[in-house]
Amino acid sequence: ATKRRKRVMVLMSDTGGGHRASAEALQAGFEQLYGDDFQVDYVDVWTDHTPYPFNQLPKTYSFMVRNSLMWRIGYYGQQPRFIHVPTQTVSSLFVSKQVAAAFDHYQPDLVVSVHPLMQLVPLRVLRQQARRGKRKPVPFATVVTDLTTCHNTWFHPLVDRCFVPTLYCKRSAMRNGLKEEQITVHGLPIRPAFSQKLAPKHQLRRSLGLERDLPIVLLVGGGEGMGAIEKTLQALDDRVGGGCQVVAVCGRNKALIERLNHRSFPGGLKVRVCGFVTNMAEWMTASDTIITKAGPGTIAEALICGLPIILNGFIPCQEEGNVPFVVDNKVGLFERKPAAIAQILEGWLTVEKAEFNRFAERAREIGSRWKGALLRIVVDLALMCDSALEVESIKAAAHKALVQHSSA
Ligand code: UDP
Repeated sequence: ATKRRKRVMVLMSDTGGGHRASAEALQAGFEQLYGDDFQVDYVDVWTDHTPYPFNQLPKTYSFMVRNSLMWRIGYYGQQPRFIHVPTQTVSSLFVSKQVAAAFDHYQPDLVVSVHPLMQLVPLRVLRQQARRGKRKPVPFATVVTDLTTCHNTWFHPLVDRCFVPTLYCKRSAMRNGLKEEQITVHGLPIRPAFSQKLAPKHQLRRSLGLERDLPIVLLVGGGEGMGAIEKTLQALDDRVGGGCQVVAVCGRNKALIERLNHRSFPGGLKVRVCGFVTNMAEWMTASDTIITKAGPGTIAEALICGLPIILNGFIPCQEEGNVPFVVDNKVGLFERKPAAIAQILEGWLTVEKAEFNRFAERAREIGSRWKGALLRIVVDLALMCDSALEVESIKAAAHKALVQHSSA
């Protein structure tokens, strides 16, 4: 008889770009280690499996985070358990039918959440279904995708496992009632493209249509294209002009792309405008440095590619802690003002070259420790959803892949 593929359902939501990137990473990691043995589906539960107004969550997020005060009130207001537990419990009364239908559809052997608002509701629904004899209990894991400051809703004591990227997050998990044995620190799940060998830099530059001999600056506005991309380009044009080429990654911000495509840069700055790119590993490998907001995924990816980082902003609350992470680890600087960013970059390209090289070296050093995180998480997840009989073969496959990986 043919063996049924094990099904892993990853709960994500397009609030920002990081949760989708993590979901994609897990899917690719399972594929790499176990081929056809697992089917991994990632599902935006809030958008696709809840009724109005709950399905507006990603849109609301995109609006809210642009309004710092409102976001802070919402974020901190929901931080205490005595507030967010009842709020989400009440929400679950409205959405549980559709969420249950999503579980019926995907028939998961394992549920993995990569989103802070997908613990309480799905766990409740799964437990209800188990109580009613609809399905046997399904193991549930959270994979935290914030680097430092995490919202308390990430942590639910009833999860079977909680994977966190840093010891800082582990302490937050324990403060939220998780026991040490539930928590594993492996790092952030970064897409495999970042740990695989790509073409050399000069070849990538050619295939991406970039200048061969100029320093390349990647200017990333996050999945939503946030941040002062236009003003930064202007400042770089004033200060550095033809001394570098900038790749402006505008995410899903169509209005910005349109504007930039019709702009000229009198200082001679070479600008390449992109929308949401799906080959970020190539763009980063082809670049020399990155200017970005303090998104955890982007920071981790930049470190793996050895790029010194200029952070030009952060989403209030959950990304605030990423600023000292970058600055204290001496892999980059924080500067909001476009003119000052242009000044730093001008220095890095000329008299401050030594500082720039030190940052790049430190970035590579830290990044190399994170390369294996994805596969370590995937192995542990695979072990969670398989019966004891198959555990040995999973371990053997994992061992082989990890050995291959670390010698690559
Ligand atoms: N990203 C991408 N293409 C783009 C812009 C962003 O693949 O055009 C990815 C980026 O590489 C990172 C994620 O989206 O993996 C953004 O996640 P991060 O945690 O940095 O910030 P968020 O957008 O979630 O706030």
